[in-house]
Amino acid sequence: MTTAEILDEIAQQVAVCEKCELHFSRKNAVPGAGSITTEILFIGEGPGFHENEQGLPFVGRSGKFLDELLESCGMDRSTVFITNVVKCRPPGNRDPKTEELATCSRYLNRQIEAINPKVIVTLGRFSMAKFIANAKISQIHGQPRWVRGRLIVPMYHPAAALRLGSLRPVMKEDFAKLPQWIEEARRAVPDPSPDVVEYADTTESALDASAAQMDLFGAAPPASDTPQAGDPGEDDSSQPSLF
Ligand code: SF4
Repeated sequence: MTTAEILDEIAQQVAVCEKCELHFSRKNAVPGAGSITTEILFIGEGPGFHENEQGLPFVGRSGKFLDELLESCGMDRSTVFITNVVKCRPPGNRDPKTEELATCSRYLNRQIEAINPKVIVTLGRFSMAKFIANAKISQIHGQPRWVRGRLIVPMYHPAAALRLGSLRPVMKEDFAKLPQWIEEARRAVPDPSPDVVEYADTTESALDASAAQMDLFGAAPPASDTPQAGDPGEDDSSQPSLF
């Protein structure tokens, strides 16, 4: 299957998915949107009110701020792919629960496989915890690291900066360094992703097997910004240290 076919299939699956209780608060699933040939994947938390209405990621105030941040470093959202760790809106914008993150990870894992990005920018503590264990976003934001052959760049969620104005300049500083990190990743990672992704079986049975065998992430960070002990996110210290 091609990357486009896989992403289309995932979008169709999440539109009717009832594997966790978030489907009760779903008007439209939000599988993600953007360039399918990109080297850069942004992962946020979950759809909010406007995203649930439109079925698109980051279309509310947070999305406007994300656009502003991208523009500030010479980027445009049409050149990246943007998705979330859960594809359906948590009611009242509450945090996604551990079991919801674990269940929905099957879709995100397949999106990552299909797009095969060199750089993943995590927006907020839930997507950070998917890749980096036992970390506080307040301590590691803007500090990239290699995880399983991809450069993971932890950033605050734009909504955090809308709630706490002092984070706006912090996020702008972090985003200002993004082009340099992308260049470093391009130099470090050999050229990508074949157009045809033969291994990406996205049938429901394959996704079930994948979720059971390789839930890479699963655990949600606790109410503080520290991921839970034992969260299987992992650094890859065997990669060259670029930063
Ligand atoms: S959040 Fe994910 S696992 Fe839960 S119902 Fe929506 S698509 Fe399915």
